[in-house]
Amino acid sequence: MENLLRQAAERATRYLNGVQTRNVAPTPEALDRLRLFREPMPDGPADPEDVLEMLDTIGSPATTGMAGARFFGFVIGGTLPAALAANWLATAWDQNPGLHLASPVATELEEISLAWLLDVLQLPAECAGSFVTGATVANFTALAAARNAVLRDVGWNVEAKGLFGAPEITVVIGAEGHPSMVKALGMLGLGRERLVRVPVDEQGRMRTDAFPSIQGPAIVCLQAGNVNSGAFDAAREIIPLAKKAGAWVHIDGAFGLWAAVSSRLRHLVDGFADADSWATDAHKWLNVPYDSGLAFVRDGDALRAAMSISAAYLPQGEHREPSNFVPELSRRARGVDVWAALKSLGRSGLASMIERNCDAATQFSAGLQAAGYEVLNDVVLNQVVVSFGSTELNQRIMQGILADGTCWCGVTHWQGRSAIRISVSSWRTTPDDVERSLEAIIRIATEKGATPGSGTKYPA
Ligand SMILES: *Cc1c(COP(=O)(O)O)cnc(C)c1O
Repeated sequence: MENLLRQAAERATRYLNGVQTRNVAPTPEALDRLRLFREPMPDGPADPEDVLEMLDTIGSPATTGMAGARFFGFVIGGTLPAALAANWLATAWDQNPGLHLASPVATELEEISLAWLLDVLQLPAECAGSFVTGATVANFTALAAARNAVLRDVGWNVEAKGLFGAPEITVVIGAEGHPSMVKALGMLGLGRERLVRVPVDEQGRMRTDAFPSIQGPAIVCLQAGNVNSGAFDAAREIIPLAKKAGAWVHIDGAFGLWAAVSSRLRHLVDGFADADSWATDAHKWLNVPYDSGLAFVRDGDALRAAMSISAAYLPQGEHREPSNFVPELSRRARGVDVWAALKSLGRSGLASMIERNCDAATQFSAGLQAAGYEVLNDVVLNQVVVSFGSTELNQRIMQGILADGTCWCGVTHWQGRSAIRISVSSWRTTPDDVERSLEAIIRIATEKGATPGSGTKYPA
């Protein structure tokens, strides 16, 4: 065991050093070698050291360099050293944090992390919290609490009776709500197609003047950080409208909520703390390993009623029982790496990581515009949406970027236009990484036939 784990640490260290200099996207040769994994189910055992060697030799080169400094796809963070190391140790612990009795240490670290998170994210200290896989399930979990509460208020117990025959719930969401929100609402029986979609402005923000009049049980979903533009809905204006109508307000803040940790960016989350529930990711901007998402719910009773394992909903005992706050019973001890990340960064380190990523986005935007290319969004956070022209051209440029290997960016659609999206979310990214990536992107765009200066800058 000892030798094996030492080898794993050595291989991982070598990997993390190498990921900074190798192609960010795996090469076609590395992907081709994945076929070596394809073999019939082995009849007998293999030496664990050989298993590890095979995994490293074939698997490591075929990875996408998400742990490196120049991966800018999909709002994917890296992993902080303390979070990675804590994750290894916690995996060795093999704790099941379903019940306090089963793993006091894992449940304590969850509770402590929860209090710290509410503090740094400037959310109400009384919130209950859930450690789940990601923002999709965090949205699902918080919205299950919302569904419980708005029906409870009209005398319907949805956990006991289900939705058949229940009073209808009006669900309001912006036209630019994240697709995972729509999925979560669908899984809750609230219907992907019966949502009231509110028109948005040119940054993807819900238009306050288009906010519908609502009656009866209602859930209003706002967004802190649009996945393309990084824009924030006008919480200060919209939450009072929703509250006046008696609605539950839920915030999808998968990465945007983290703006609260910086005095420079905090104005972006102005008013969001007045909501009833929030979902965010730790595997995005807190830079902990996959998977790690968080839900926070002001009305902890509603969350427990929705997630409690026992049909008879029990009052909270002496200890917080984690499985009463999440869809799962057994799961990994996610509180451990969240705790390690927060402990190692402190308030100042956390703020500095978020601000450095936002500065890098500004640097990208300035560099691309200086080269004559069109940035489609107001760069208020860590997201840059740049268009080089047609869908076909952006696609070709994206393929060229992946083949070149300096950095990694994906294509997107924004306001009816094809574009390339750059999202800076890793603690590792430096101004030098941005310069190198800009050089590569602009060089490849020119090679693929983009014409600098042909586009109008936003705003036109
Ligand atoms: C990434 C993202 C999600 C989904 O998060 P997962 O962790 O992938 O489940 C939801 N909403 C927004 C705004 C996001 O950026």
